Amino acid sequence: MLNCVKINRENIVKNVKRIRNMTPLICVVKDDAYGLGIENILPILYDEGERYYAVAFFEEAAEIREMYKDVNIIIINYTEEERLREAAEDKIEVSVFSMLQLHRYIEVLGDEISELGIHIKFNTGMNRLGFDIEETEELGSIIKKYKLHIKSVFSHISNSENIENTEKQLEKFRDIINLLEKHKINYGFRHISASPALFQ
Ligand SMILES: *Cc1c(COP(=O)(O)O)cnc(C)c1O
Repeated sequence: MLNCVKINRENIVKNVKRIRNMTPLICVVKDDAYGLGIENILPILYDEGERYYAVAFFEEAAEIREMYKDVNIIIINYTEEERLREAAEDKIEVSVFSMLQLHRYIEVLGDEISELGIHIKFNTGMNRLGFDIEETEELGSIIKKYKLHIKSVFSHISNSENIENTEKQLEKFRDIINLLEKHKINYGFRHISASPALFQ
């Protein structure tokens, strides 16, 4: 049997407009735009004026950079150290989940580290990667010392069907934001979401 998926351009555009009415958005197009094909989905988002994309891996980010020079691209998973220099040169932004990772990146890039766009992931749920709220102050001093370019702080809602847990995660995220502000740590913007959370 032959299966066929039709991509409804009008629906994508309608949805983007609806979301944009509530909040600026980062278009997550990981896993080859969730199996629909980056080459099919990205031009629709681009024509609609969206310029911020998130993917899981360096290869996907590089593919998008080939297509568009004037967009922001985040690698939301781990980026291997061997890819860091390429990422910095291609203005591909990376995510950092731990002190150890951050120190390794600083070691690998040296002075160039301040040119790398960095997104800091905090752990607000259970068993997920990310910095702990207790590490915020130390993180702040590293950011200042190495003049890191922090594009955002973020977390991921692990199970948004569970309203109670989601509320707890949001609460923790707010605490982190307050702490960042208390220690005068500049962080660009902040994001915490997932598709089911959006629908709610
Ligand atoms: C994957 C991801 C999203 C999108 O979540 P979905 O549940 O796949 O829609 C949002 N934020 C972060 C940090 C992610 O890693």
